[in-house]
Amino acid sequence: MKEKKQSDLSVLLGYAGSYRGLTYLGLALSAAAMALGMAPYICIWLAARDLIAVAPNWTQAVNVGRYGWLAFGFAFGGIAVYFCALMCTHLAAFRTASNIRKAGMAHLMKAPLGFFDSNASGLLRNRLDGAASETETLLAHNLADIVGTVAMLIAMIVLMFVFDGRMGAACLLAAVISVCALCVMMTGKNAGLMAEYQAAQDMMSKAGTEYVRGIPVVKVFQQTVHSFKAFKQAIEDYSAKAEHYQANVCKTPQAVNLTFTEGAFAFLVPVALLLAPGALKSGSFAGFVTNFAFYAVFSAIISTALARIMFAASGMMLASTALGRIRQVMSAATFETVEDPVTPRDNRIEFRDVTFTYEGSEQPALDRVSFTVRPGQTVALVGPSGGGKTTAASLIPRFWDVSSGAVLVGGADVRQVDPHVLMDRIAFVFQNSRLFKASILENVRMARPDASREEVLAALEAAQCGDILAKLPKGVDTVIGTEGTYLSGGEQQRVALARAILKDAPIIVLDEATAFADPENEALIQRALGRLTDGRTVVMIAHRLSTVLGADNIIVLDSGRVAEQGTHERLVEANGLYARMWADYNRAAQWKISSEGEVA
Ligand code: ADP
Ligand code: MG
Repeated sequence: MKEKKQSDLSVLLGYAGSYRGLTYLGLALSAAAMALGMAPYICIWLAARDLIAVAPNWTQAVNVGRYGWLAFGFAFGGIAVYFCALMCTHLAAFRTASNIRKAGMAHLMKAPLGFFDSNASGLLRNRLDGAASETETLLAHNLADIVGTVAMLIAMIVLMFVFDGRMGAACLLAAVISVCALCVMMTGKNAGLMAEYQAAQDMMSKAGTEYVRGIPVVKVFQQTVHSFKAFKQAIEDYSAKAEHYQANVCKTPQAVNLTFTEGAFAFLVPVALLLAPGALKSGSFAGFVTNFAFYAVFSAIISTALARIMFAASGMMLASTALGRIRQVMSAATFETVEDPVTPRDNRIEFRDVTFTYEGSEQPALDRVSFTVRPGQTVALVGPSGGGKTTAASLIPRFWDVSSGAVLVGGADVRQVDPHVLMDRIAFVFQNSRLFKASILENVRMARPDASREEVLAALEAAQCGDILAKLPKGVDTVIGTEGTYLSGGEQQRVALARAILKDAPIIVLDEATAFADPENEALIQRALGRLTDGRTVVMIAHRLSTVLGADNIIVLDSGRVAEQGTHERLVEANGLYARMWADYNRAAQWKISSEGEVA
């Protein structure tokens, strides 16, 4: 456990880079500040000694004023040094957090694009951001407090034995008992109970999140909270575990802990009573009273010190989980950088015996798939849902790397091409193309940042977006997602097409939309698609077979394999899977026409 924490810390300090020294300086200053904080107690002791020596002729205690000022000076100095310490640790902590963010982002930039399909980029960024800020608290405050408090405890123990070892031991005994009580709560067989209790708490918050996500369903189906059995179960489980843990584990040790941290007096008074007769006899009673006064004041700060250490230790735990999340981001697989990049000769696309299996999946999504798209051709990928069409399309812009075989663009293995060169050559429109919360102009311009306003407008025009711009309050400068301006699925698809048109890349990879097929949008999308694909090399996933009639080649993917390929006529003649799909499609189309006829 301890070893792991240390390595956590060294990982964090590793991120601090050149600011690591500043952290150490801050910690040393914090220790010095806490040690300085002990000095006023010595001054109090000195003042008390002088006062008691001259009692009751108080005016004779000439040095008391000086001790008072000294105590004030030390206290103030301690605060000033602590301030400097926190300054150092904060500077280092901010730099460390910013380094973590930078390193995380840099790492994610090298991750395959497909990674962001299964891990929403916004979520990743939030997770990284949150984790980085959590380390900030540890480095800026908790660590300084831990080091400072340890220094303070050492100074305290030394001081305790300087004046009167026996009374010191009495104070210390109280502290030792409360620490032992704490340990009982958290170690041995109780550690298991604590872990169970924490797991139940975790479970409850997870079930709570699920519940909140499910609220729309609850409302639609008029259900009550009781229908969320998992959530209810988790709450009851947590409540039972918490009660059990409190009643059986915490009750006694926590009572002991609180009693002794707050009441170090409990030991001090009996010891003093025991020592008093001896002191009277030996004539050093004044010194004895001074010491007693000192320990009475001093014992009160023990509880503060212990509380501070506990608090700081919880910061350590938080930082440890934060670091876990940072590690998760940093362990995302990345592409290796290309040593000697190859430049694609032309726009030919070739799948050579490609097999691809998603991480964590047993079945390959593509199984020894081979086909070629010659420059200028339009090739359609068709087949039943789950056949591997989207997967095949996403291997071309290298969302993922193949498990075996190769995807070639212009004769070059995509793994050997500089990613920027590859991206410049390919424009892709996938079904889940997202628009950002920015103006339409900016959203389209992303495809080519140096494009002029006129070029963007021309691309929007080509993508048949005129009607969208006309109805928006500020036209092309309307920010999407504000003032109630949301675009329908079909409209978003057309803006995404404008983006691809503006990019003006020679290769187009398209996942054609089905979900948004209201007739009006459909006609516009078809026209936009025509403008986009004109004269280019196109790989398109077609869901409506009417759009593939003119394709130069049709690849039928079924369960990750190429079931058959050829032109529409050849495939219909072959009377295989495609012919069946075509027959189904025609039947559905006819059904649609006839049912519309009935309505009319
Ligand atoms: P299609 O586009 O033809 O409907 P896909 O290429 O989307 O098919 O999917 C092919 C297979 O790969 C399916 O079995 C699907 O469940 C699986 N699959 C798709 N995406 C992922 C993913 N991100 N992780 C794991 N498996 C996936
Ligand atoms: Mg698909």
